[in-house]
Amino acid sequence: MSHELKNNIITILEFYKELGFERLPLNYSNELQVKCQSVKVSKYQSVKDPDTLTLGNSDTSFVTRYSSLNKEDALKSLREEIGDCQRCKLSKGRTHIVFGEGNANASVMFIGEAPGKDEDIQARPFVGEAGQILTRLINNMGKASGLNFTRTDVYIANIVKCRPPMNRDPQADEIAACLPFLERQIDTIAPKIIMALGKVAAHTLMGLETPLAKFSIAKIRGQFFEYKGIPAMPTYHPAYFLRNPKDKPLTWADAQAVLQKLSK
Ligand code: SF4
Repeated sequence: MSHELKNNIITILEFYKELGFERLPLNYSNELQVKCQSVKVSKYQSVKDPDTLTLGNSDTSFVTRYSSLNKEDALKSLREEIGDCQRCKLSKGRTHIVFGEGNANASVMFIGEAPGKDEDIQARPFVGEAGQILTRLINNMGKASGLNFTRTDVYIANIVKCRPPMNRDPQADEIAACLPFLERQIDTIAPKIIMALGKVAAHTLMGLETPLAKFSIAKIRGQFFEYKGIPAMPTYHPAYFLRNPKDKPLTWADAQAVLQKLSK
């Protein structure tokens, strides 16, 4: 193996490590070899794609483009790693694992608590009645901001990926088992901002030790907290509005605060 090829492999492995990979699946290892043989690497910050390799300052930042392209691959690989997960008792009653969906390069992530009945059947997050409310919220945020983003431009996930029985709140052991997957999704996507939907999502992302029963989303909504340096806005879960539609303006106010921060 040439010295240059060895350096290329080290650089790309470091990149995957930063994305949260602890090991590479076999198909990645093969791709990696092809990439390493065809990519010129001088140092991490100046990796060039051979297709766009030019001289001077007009070079596109390959690191930026490479990162973007491979976020999708990283998420796919994470999904493969989760497999037919049996790491917690929620596996017993689920129909499908609901991994999450959306744009791997999203600026905004919406994080709920757990899949419900419709989500469990369709293996997609927020597709039931509450999901329709969330979709309208996202689309309205896109219009109001002038950025015209829609649901497919953001990323949507949950704290746990399997439906709890009777839609109860996920329990601490289930959250502990599943949270590392969400953390890897957030690390990979690296959104500019997060909206935490409901008290389970907010309580978990805030890393609170206080019992969930003593935690009130009504009291903390509307005030940003930080999740690993990312501003996060706690707000009501869309399902809350099925019973309390009059409170929708509160979440709209939270959404506007998110858009304001996003525009800075
Ligand atoms: S909730 Fe998460 S940890 Fe538990 S079985 Fe499903 S995917 Fe695995």
